[in-house]
Amino acid sequence: MLVVSLAPAVDAAKSASDLRLLTPSMDAARAEIGVFGGSGLYRLLDDVAFLAIETPYGVPSDDIAIGRVGDRMVAFMPRHGRKHTIPPAAINYRANLWAMHSIGVNRVIAPTAAGSLQPHVKVGELVITDQFIDRTHGRPDTYFAEGPKVVHISAAEPYCPVLRALAVQAAKAGEVAVHEHGTVVVIQGPRFSTRAESKWFSSMGWETVNMTQYPEAMLARELEMCYLNISLVTDYDAGLEGHPDVKPVSVEEVQRSFAANTDRVRELILRLIPNIPAERQCPCATALRDAAIGG
Ligand SMILES: [Zn+2]
Repeated sequence: MLVVSLAPAVDAAKSASDLRLLTPSMDAARAEIGVFGGSGLYRLLDDVAFLAIETPYGVPSDDIAIGRVGDRMVAFMPRHGRKHTIPPAAINYRANLWAMHSIGVNRVIAPTAAGSLQPHVKVGELVITDQFIDRTHGRPDTYFAEGPKVVHISAAEPYCPVLRALAVQAAKAGEVAVHEHGTVVVIQGPRFSTRAESKWFSSMGWETVNMTQYPEAMLARELEMCYLNISLVTDYDAGLEGHPDVKPVSVEEVQRSFAANTDRVRELILRLIPNIPAERQCPCATALRDAAIGG
């Protein structure tokens, strides 16, 4: 096991050009694709080097493990920490995304556990999320909070269209049941939904509920990184209307469901990575263009 420590290059940075200046030049500590493991996915690769990275925003959830998938360098970080000790609202999302960006990552793959809000979205199936509803509060959710540059970034399409299409393709190739679109409601946690909340979310037609997609997805966009969420459905949130036999979610159920499906999620990610094009043609790469005023 190789341990490399990277100190932040400067104390703070507030603009896109500053962000690029922070990239370390150590070739051994570089990766182009980053994966944030969620509940139940604490490991992705074998034979890795570990990087302890500090950022201007503090310490990330864990060291970054860097390994090879074919000829691609891939970085992995468990977003709750390797022993699952960091609750969703306490995750330092800014440090996590910054750390990935600082070693060259421009594509982020984010598998998560999620509750289903719809009968046709079943436990064990995957949802390739394309929209979110933010119900969180008090989470630092921007790199541009203090100016002088005022940035209003578009959130109209928060997920990378190219990575989403590749994920759908990889799921179908692996004969994994997949929903090609989905809106996730991001709740603050740590508690699960009430029946009334869950009924409201379902009635709006939203597909899944989760605690970590916000602000992770938007911070990736602020760093002009492509971002993909693969939601693994582990439960039915507070139950299903008209299905009294479906019990409200418990931690035990989430863990059991994820454990039963972790290998499929890992295989899907490993199948997806070689198909990611080297060059980016998607809008994510220029997300900050025309988003700033002043500065
Ligand atoms: Zn993209």
